[in-house]
Amino acid sequence: MTTLRLAIVGAGPAGIYAADILLKAQKGFDVQIDLFEQLPAPYGLVRYGVAPDHPRIKGIVNALRDVLDSGDIRVFGNVRYGVDISLDDLKKHYNAVIFSTGAIRDADLDVPGIELEGSYGAADFVSWFDGHPDVPRTWPLDASSVAVVGVGNVALDVSRILAKHADDLLPTEIPDNVYEVLKASPVTDVHVFGRRGPAQVKFTPLELRELGELRDVDMIVYDEDFDHDEAAKTAIATNKQVFVMDKVLNQWRQREVGQASRRLHLHFYAKPVEIVGDDEGRVSAFRYERTRPDGQGGVEGTGGMRDVPVQAVYRAVGYFGSPLDGIPFDERRGVIPNHEGQVMDDDNQIVPGVYATGWIKRGPVGLIGHTKSDAMETVSHVIRDQASWWQPSELDPDAVPALLTARGVEFTDLDGWHRLDEHEQALGAAHEHERVRVKVVPRDEMVRVSRADEARTA
Ligand SMILES: Cc1cc2nc3c(=O)[nH]c(=O)nc-3n(C[C@H](O)[C@H](O)[C@H](O)COP(=O)(O)OP(=O)(O)OC[C@H]3O[C@@H](n4cnc5c(N)ncnc54)[C@H](O)[C@@H]3O)c2cc1C
Repeated sequence: MTTLRLAIVGAGPAGIYAADILLKAQKGFDVQIDLFEQLPAPYGLVRYGVAPDHPRIKGIVNALRDVLDSGDIRVFGNVRYGVDISLDDLKKHYNAVIFSTGAIRDADLDVPGIELEGSYGAADFVSWFDGHPDVPRTWPLDASSVAVVGVGNVALDVSRILAKHADDLLPTEIPDNVYEVLKASPVTDVHVFGRRGPAQVKFTPLELRELGELRDVDMIVYDEDFDHDEAAKTAIATNKQVFVMDKVLNQWRQREVGQASRRLHLHFYAKPVEIVGDDEGRVSAFRYERTRPDGQGGVEGTGGMRDVPVQAVYRAVGYFGSPLDGIPFDERRGVIPNHEGQVMDDDNQIVPGVYATGWIKRGPVGLIGHTKSDAMETVSHVIRDQASWWQPSELDPDAVPALLTARGVEFTDLDGWHRLDEHEQALGAAHEHERVRVKVVPRDEMVRVSRADEARTA
């Protein structure tokens, strides 16, 4: 029987679900899957994006681990496509490749002052508090008032982690150095700004409601933001999520405030205009233009400018994908151009053997579950495209690890991940707060534990 040798690049949920769906699909051929991941550990943003105080979502790694443990997938961790392995290498060893490389960097926010000291991207902050090995281990949390720009769940994650008392994060898998920095944070006020009205946010109800449950944090909403126009009223009446969030916000309007030591303010109808700096080039205020409903479900500027004194600004205006060597890239959207997962070149022609799935396919929106339906669509094309698969010249499965070894790549494998996983869980169990896990953060230590390479510590 024919065998499909498939490479998948990116071991986040999209890549792992694609492998799972392909293995379970009805097809007239055998499958061998190699999963390449630039980090020594799998699971992408489930490990390095989902907030540590969301253990239920973090628990999705258990389902993903079951897929990897099914026995039909090889994992090559600590291998970066474009550096350690190239498109030509993949063509030599595989029939096709699926790219599921997600998005890790912040989208730009084009306002004056964005480069000031104290202006940060949410993605960098998230990577820091989630223990990503490739970001610095320190974070300058020295602001008492902070602005967060954006009305999606990432903005809520960032605001919540900033406003929450560090001790309430102790039972989570938050790295110790992150706890120490959060514990010393002088923050008293976190201001979230959104250009549009409360009926137009992209939050989800559960995540919004959670803010109101933070210990010793007052939720501050402003009455001037609740003068709904017809479009907002229709949205509240017809959309269950918007209805629930409107209810939550209105409950907060009625709450007594003033006792808590920290406040989380939600400002709607606030369009970012400028990050104002002091003489030393540090953030000193967030300037916005008050907007108003335009009667069509959108907003228009009123010309009224307001300044809120802050010493730090976090932009949570979306993630953005990164280009991959030899693969078409849409610079505007930050995705690989594709038709239902089949990668398209600049002339809108399908590139044989090359596929995309997950955030790098459709952009950085949607929950983990959405990457499953994504993967189904992509995998259905891989199966149907059998006639245009690549014809590799090197069929020996040992050739790939041999190639990586010859290049000096210290790749990790599935057994290595199990070792690291068990090591982290053991650290968690031994921790004074009995955590589910304590993440190993430095990349070389992750590799050392995975490869059981005691000699390198000596
Ligand atoms: C801050 C944040 C919080 C979130 N919280 C939730 C939540 O609570 N619930 C929820 O359902 N969804 C949440 N999401 C959304 C969820 O994380 C995404 O839907 C999902 O992770 C997208 O999956 P993916 O596999 O496409 O990308 P990713 O998860 O980003 O995985 C991509 C993988 O590819 C690897 N990679 C990239 N480039 C290369 C390369 N050149 N070579 C090799 N490997 C490479 C990366 O290291 C990564 O492991 C959150 C997202 C963010 C950003």
